[in-house]
Amino acid sequence: AGAASLALTLSACGQSGTGGSKEKTGSAKGGTIGIAMPTKSSERWIADGKNVVKDLQAKGYKTKLVYGEDDPDQQVSQIENLITQGVKGLIVAAIDNKSLNNVLQQAADAKIPVIAYDRLILGTKNVDYYASFDNEKVGQLQANYIVQKLGLDKGKGPFNIELFAGSNDDNNTKYFFNGAMSVLQPYIDKKKLVVKSGQTKLTQVTTLRWDGATAQKRMEDILTSTYSSAKVDAVLSPYDGISIGILAALKSDGYGSSSKPLPVITGQDAELASVKSIIAGQQTQTVYKDTRKLADVAAGMVDDVLNGKKPQVNDTKTYDNGTKVVPAMLLQPVSVDETNYTKELVDTGYYTAGELK
Ligand code: BGC
Repeated sequence: AGAASLALTLSACGQSGTGGSKEKTGSAKGGTIGIAMPTKSSERWIADGKNVVKDLQAKGYKTKLVYGEDDPDQQVSQIENLITQGVKGLIVAAIDNKSLNNVLQQAADAKIPVIAYDRLILGTKNVDYYASFDNEKVGQLQANYIVQKLGLDKGKGPFNIELFAGSNDDNNTKYFFNGAMSVLQPYIDKKKLVVKSGQTKLTQVTTLRWDGATAQKRMEDILTSTYSSAKVDAVLSPYDGISIGILAALKSDGYGSSSKPLPVITGQDAELASVKSIIAGQQTQTVYKDTRKLADVAAGMVDDVLNGKKPQVNDTKTYDNGTKVVPAMLLQPVSVDETNYTKELVDTGYYTAGELK
C-alpha cells in the first residue's frame, strides 16, 4: 500500500520530472545513494564524505562513497560503476565540471536524480539541484579581509599584492576570483594595490587541481622575477592548501622574520593545518564553510527528490550551467582569523580545542 499511495501522491504533486520515475521513486526507500567526492588529499572532502554518509544513513539509505583522487577519468568510471550497481540517487562533487555529461546521461536514462555538491556541473540538463555556499561571497570575504588588515579602507597604501585562483576546471574558481576582484579592483585602479608581477587575469593566476605545490612554484617564480628588492604585503589565496604552498615559498625566501614579516595571506576551508598556521601567526585568514551543514542540505535534497518533494532552495538565477539554471541552496561562508577561530570553530564543535593544539 505504501508504494501505491506514494505513487499517487507523486503524480498528484506532478513531481515526476525532477528526478526518478514514480516506480523508481517508490523503490528508493532503503536504497543506496552514490556519493562521488573529488579527492582525499584535502581534509574538507573527507569531512564532506563522512557527513553525507552519516546524514543519508540517518534517513534510512545505504551509501557508497568514492573518491576520484583528482583524476577526472577515474571519477567518470566511478560514477559509471555506481550507476551499474543500481544506486537510487547521486551526489557529485565534480573534479572537472565539464567531463560528466556522458555519464550523467546514463544516470538520467536510469532515472537517477543528481545533486551537484559544492561544485556546479556544467553543460548538462541532467543535474537536478545544487548545494553549495555563496561562492562570490567567499572571494569578497577574502578580499575585504586584505583591505581591512592592510588599512586600505583607512587610506593606507600603496601595498604590493599577488593573486592566486583555484583550478580552471572548477566552476567555483571564477566566482571566488570575481568576488575578490570586485573588492580589490578599485584599489588596483587607484594604485593603492600594485600587482607587481603584472599577473592579474584569471587565466594567468589559476592553479590546476588546487595543487599547493603548483602554487608554491608559482610564488617562488614571482619572488625571484619581481621581488628582489620589493616586498609582498598581501597574497590573495583561494584555498588553504594553496596558502600553505605560498607560505613555504615565502619562508624559503626569508619572509617571517621581524625585518621581513609575512604578508597577509587568505585561505578557504578552515583546514586543520591552516587553522594551526593562523594560530601560529603565519597564514592570516581562512573562510570557514561548515561542511556539516552542506552535507545536510545535499542529503535532504536527494531524499526530497526521491520522495517526490521539492527541496528547499534559495537561489534560482545565479547558477546557469550553460544548459539550464540549476536551482541552488547556498549557505553562508564565514571569515575566520586569530580573533574569532574559537567562537567559529571550537564553540560550534567543528574542531575540538585539542585538535587545534
Ligand atoms: C571548494 C573549496 C575548496 C576547493 C579545493 C572548491 O570547489 O568550493 O571549498 O577549497 O574546491 O578543494
